[in-house]
Amino acid sequence: MKNNNKKQTSRRNFVKGVGASMMSIGVSSFATSVMATTPNSKKLGVALVGLGNYATNQLAPALAVSNSAYLAGIVTGTPAKEIVWSNKYGIDPSHIYNYQNFDKIISDKAIDIVYIVLPNSMHKEFVIRAAKAGKHVITEKPMGLTAAECEEMIAACDNAGVKLSVGYRLQFEPNTLEIEKAGKELPLGPIKHVRSDFSFTIGNPKQWRLKKELSGGGPIMDIGIYCIQAARYATGLEPIAVRAVEYKTDPVKFNSVEETVMWQMEFPGGLISNHTTSYAMSANELYISYEKGKARLEPAYSYNGVAGNLGKRQLLPHKVNQQTLQIDDFVECIRQNSPSKVSGLEGLQDMKIVDAMYKSIALDGKRVEV
Ligand code: NAD
Repeated sequence: MKNNNKKQTSRRNFVKGVGASMMSIGVSSFATSVMATTPNSKKLGVALVGLGNYATNQLAPALAVSNSAYLAGIVTGTPAKEIVWSNKYGIDPSHIYNYQNFDKIISDKAIDIVYIVLPNSMHKEFVIRAAKAGKHVITEKPMGLTAAECEEMIAACDNAGVKLSVGYRLQFEPNTLEIEKAGKELPLGPIKHVRSDFSFTIGNPKQWRLKKELSGGGPIMDIGIYCIQAARYATGLEPIAVRAVEYKTDPVKFNSVEETVMWQMEFPGGLISNHTTSYAMSANELYISYEKGKARLEPAYSYNGVAGNLGKRQLLPHKVNQQTLQIDDFVECIRQNSPSKVSGLEGLQDMKIVDAMYKSIALDGKRVEV
């Protein structure tokens, strides 16, 4: 099959969101819904690579309630997690791998999709290894560390004839889809301005997110990317240039990655968007000014609901599992051999913008074309 890659709230609130979405699933209704869903034999098997916070608290529960995919395997560097996950999700030891023997997954018929949930610098390596093993791949955001890495990842999946997508869960969230539709159909007239900020105060100074060799960068890579996505899906336009500047109040903690970045994106026709992303403050917002009204989402990026207003219409939070919707859509793309809305090309486009932002920062905010 040929690849068709045509195409928070703070991290703390993410964790709160975990609780809320688990509650929305409900511990007792969780078991019921697992039993009531399609048998595993009819679903595609997913192997999660990297069993950290996002895989444990979001993706594994999302797979447990999916009608089209199930958790068939795991790839972990921590032997103690093998037994815990095996017991919890009924995973047979023959579908458990570590980072060294991962390539043996090539002969594992139970695994159709490999989902990479590792630190950012490891995405490229595991996407390429998964593609070589003939598995369809989902990788978490940011897709890679640079646009050049994303191009390598897309080429590897194209060459292997497997599909590649990026974990852009919000592109399946109903209120986000309303914003996207308003940008296409313009019921409130043309867009005049977009503003979006996403920040949280980062804790543990030893974590991989603060080590450039593992993260590739600071809040731009982690959460700024949501603002880039939002400006693109809200307008349906691609930025032609960026201007970005960086501020640090704690050069010791942020000695390897940026602390706070403010940037502007310039779109065809002169539309401008403004953004801040930071590991030293709190924000989770998207604001769009149309000629005849405005839209405001806050929170704009949380797991447990996106809410706000679009013109006079209130957008109440939807109790949907964004990750299940995202994975189910990918399964449908595989089954229909149709392009994913959040294919590698979507991740590549964001990384072209990120590359331009880092260039602009190095030039003290000079305009850099995307
Ligand atoms: P985490 O630190 O909780 O988990 C990382 C996992 O990678 C751990 O299991 C860890 O053991 C493993 N790992 C392997 N090699 C490692 C190394 N050298 N250093 C550190 N850890 C190593 O991180 P997370 O929050 O689960 O994030 C993982 C990925 O998921 C990141 O790319 C992140 O951007 C992405 N993510 C996406 C969303 C989303 O909403 N789409 C949300 C959170 C995280």
